[in-house]
Amino acid sequence: MNRTVARKFGSNVNRLRIPWRQPFSNDAVPISSTSNAANLEKESEDLRYDIAIVGGGMVGLALACSLATRPLTKHLTVAIIDSNLALRRKHFIEKEVHPDPRVSTVTPATISFFKDIGAWQYVEQHRHAYFDKMQVWDYTGLGYTKYNARDANKEVLGCVVENKVLLSSLLSRLQDTDFQKKIYPSRLTSMSILPNSSSLEVDSTLSVTASFTHGRLAKLELEDGNSLYAKLVVGADGGKSRVRELAGFRTTGWNYSQNAIICTVEHAVENHCAWQRFLPAGPIALLPIGDKFSNIVWTMNPKESSEFKSMSEDDFLKALNYALDHGYGPHPTSSLLGNADIFSWLKGVVSRSANDCFEIPPKVVKLASERMAFPLSLRHANDYASNRVVLIGDAAHTVHPLAGQGVNLGFGDASTLSSVISEGIAVGTDIGEVCNRTNHPHNIYCY
Ligand SMILES: Cc1cc2nc3c(=O)[nH]c(=O)nc-3n(C[C@H](O)[C@H](O)[C@H](O)COP(=O)(O)OP(=O)(O)OC[C@H]3O[C@@H](n4cnc5c(N)ncnc54)[C@H](O)[C@@H]3O)c2cc1C
Repeated sequence: MNRTVARKFGSNVNRLRIPWRQPFSNDAVPISSTSNAANLEKESEDLRYDIAIVGGGMVGLALACSLATRPLTKHLTVAIIDSNLALRRKHFIEKEVHPDPRVSTVTPATISFFKDIGAWQYVEQHRHAYFDKMQVWDYTGLGYTKYNARDANKEVLGCVVENKVLLSSLLSRLQDTDFQKKIYPSRLTSMSILPNSSSLEVDSTLSVTASFTHGRLAKLELEDGNSLYAKLVVGADGGKSRVRELAGFRTTGWNYSQNAIICTVEHAVENHCAWQRFLPAGPIALLPIGDKFSNIVWTMNPKESSEFKSMSEDDFLKALNYALDHGYGPHPTSSLLGNADIFSWLKGVVSRSANDCFEIPPKVVKLASERMAFPLSLRHANDYASNRVVLIGDAAHTVHPLAGQGVNLGFGDASTLSSVISEGIAVGTDIGEVCNRTNHPHNIYCY
């Protein structure tokens, strides 16, 4: 793998540029072309990081927060690369506006992780909606099932939070620590990693150039002309990951011939339950988001989605209420357990609440946001780590949103990776090699 990456990017090695630093810090200075070699080397030292996180989305920032919290990782130097302008501002949530249609249902495990890294307190300052009940059924009328947090002796099944609230909470948490991070407002364009000179001991006194030449640092080049070096590159740059592509990770996956229409809607009454109904073309979910608002995630074929996106609000609301009520098929008359013959094999595993009465979701009375459509796909990287590169979040695995697991898996990656890095530091491993299978045969399979 090292050789492949080196061969692929070896041609970049001679293109070392004089860097112009414009990260979010007060010390950005252009480097004079007359600087002597010693000055250049010193400036290069400023471009050396322990970790470069490519992608400051929810998962990338969660990793940064987690590293900022652990005793053995909080002193690391970290570069975060993302052109998202929101990362320039500490508070980018406008109060009193309707909920953004991009939301995530986060699990109790994610809530615990956010509490551990000190970010949940910021989420709680913004709109979020815990829910303790869920009803799932389909259009055939054959049955339904219900879940209640009390079945698992929990208070909640999860919480629905706008993505911008999750992102802003992670950013606020990060900014309230004295973690040595620098945000580069740009995009990764290329990456060079040379083979490790295995004969060379890890030597912290090696210059940046020498470390790079000996395969101890990866070199990253950004769209704005900046470049930087890092012992470990983390690809948290989403489903179309540039890091994944540059490092040559293969993927397995396919595009579903489905789009998800998402929007915020308003009811006449408050909604505290998560609802999901399986329709002929895919599931529709109605998720509480606080006050009288809910979020819709409606899966359908691409042709239908362009029609539903552009139809009048009245027609859309009619179609929506139809899909959430008796459209396409009747209400179920009994729960799964009622159909004893068909589902008898399930009896041992269903929850106590499965037999509670079937309910019709609260009627939608108003569209409260624009309608957005997202094409859906499955993509799984065949490997998550190679020499000096590791993938997390959607860069490693993009999944269908029907189970609301995508970003929860990503937060699990962030938590596991920061723990692996911390363990590596404890035993003196080069940070760039902590994810190598030989060093951590068990952890690498935990993502
Ligand atoms: C309709 C829908 C509903 C969903 N609902 C849920 C849900 O309820 N629960 C759940 O768990 N998941 C849900 N998901 C999945 C969830 O949205 C994703 O798993 C999550 O956004 C992945 O986060 P990420 O940080 O890995 O990637 P992203 O959110 O894609 O962030 C990647 C970041 O990388 C940056 N970037 C990209 N390329 C570069 C580059 N070359 N250089 C630098 N930066 C770069 C981008 O600017 C971005 O900020 C849903 C998905 C969809 C489509």
